Amino acid sequence: MPAPAATMRAAIWREPGLIDLSEVELPEVPEGWALIRTAYVGLCGTDLAIFGGHHPRAAAPLIMGHEFSGIVIQSKSPGIQPADKVMAEPLITCGQCRACAEGDSHVCRNLRLYGIDYAGGLAEYVALPGDRLHVLPQDVDLRIAALAEPLAVAVHANAAVRIGADDVVAVIGGGPIGLLTAMVAQHQGAGRVAIAEPNETRRRLAQELGLDAFASVDVLDRHLKQWTDGEGADITFDCAGHPSAAARLSGLTRGRGTIVLAAVYKHPAELDLRQINFQEQILRGVRVYTRVDVQRAVGLISAGILPLDRLSLQVFGLEEINDAFAAAKNGAEAIKVLVNPSRNSGKHGTGSQDER
Ligand SMILES: [Zn+2]
Ligand SMILES: [Zn+2]
Repeated sequence: MPAPAATMRAAIWREPGLIDLSEVELPEVPEGWALIRTAYVGLCGTDLAIFGGHHPRAAAPLIMGHEFSGIVIQSKSPGIQPADKVMAEPLITCGQCRACAEGDSHVCRNLRLYGIDYAGGLAEYVALPGDRLHVLPQDVDLRIAALAEPLAVAVHANAAVRIGADDVVAVIGGGPIGLLTAMVAQHQGAGRVAIAEPNETRRRLAQELGLDAFASVDVLDRHLKQWTDGEGADITFDCAGHPSAAARLSGLTRGRGTIVLAAVYKHPAELDLRQINFQEQILRGVRVYTRVDVQRAVGLISAGILPLDRLSLQVFGLEEINDAFAAAKNGAEAIKVLVNPSRNSGKHGTGSQDER
């Protein structure tokens, strides 16, 4: 493993719509921290919001990237060894507020994230506190390991409800979070999991995964009602975060059923609150994940329990960062766009062997 040079290449977000490659100093590694050579960084809607200047906290200049895997180069943290394969749990919590005091630091009043508020993974190297790293088995595919963070989001959304064997689960949106949430619900024994997703490629993939997939919320609604004698889904996961989805949530769900808001709404959206009154439905917000959720996600990946290799990935080098953001925004070609900062330019679409 070659020692890193004094500088590294990093993708720096400069202003809305502008990200460029720069040679910057290697990050410092304080006591208790470790230096990681970044392997794969997933891009998601949050990154797109930051890139476009729509995130409420992110401030330029910033090295983005909060979903990543890598290999430890140097460690000043007990329990983390050089050559360990790791994924990052990117939360930064204050330890002072009521949520932190009660062990719910994922809803810390002052919650911050690496890659949003502080430097993240879109660079050749990244430094993190050892307690934010989860060690993976040596034979793990680091591309799949980069999905551990969004998978933890899906695990957390499912942890908000108790899924029974006869339950009918509806998922709005078949992007990465929607598909992962549906896969976890399926793994937890839901009787039937149905997804609404307009993109045909994603819909076909959902069907291959054993999910029912429909092109619109209308068609999903019709099937839900057929399956349940007109009642509706026991649990509805909103993984779209779009006002048009918000308007439908209560109608898709049975009386006393649960609605989980897994997607992050960028703006206030209209909801039929009277319908929620009359049907005594539970409307449940969820934010990121607890440490236990991350451990479960890491466990699912380590054991190869979910067919995550079926999710199509599109890998870009760091010098292709603008193409990577364009592909993530487009969303049509792959389920997930990954950036591999340690890969040099060249072959498009695969990761280098030594990073697996
Ligand atoms: Zn994300
Ligand atoms: Zn706190």
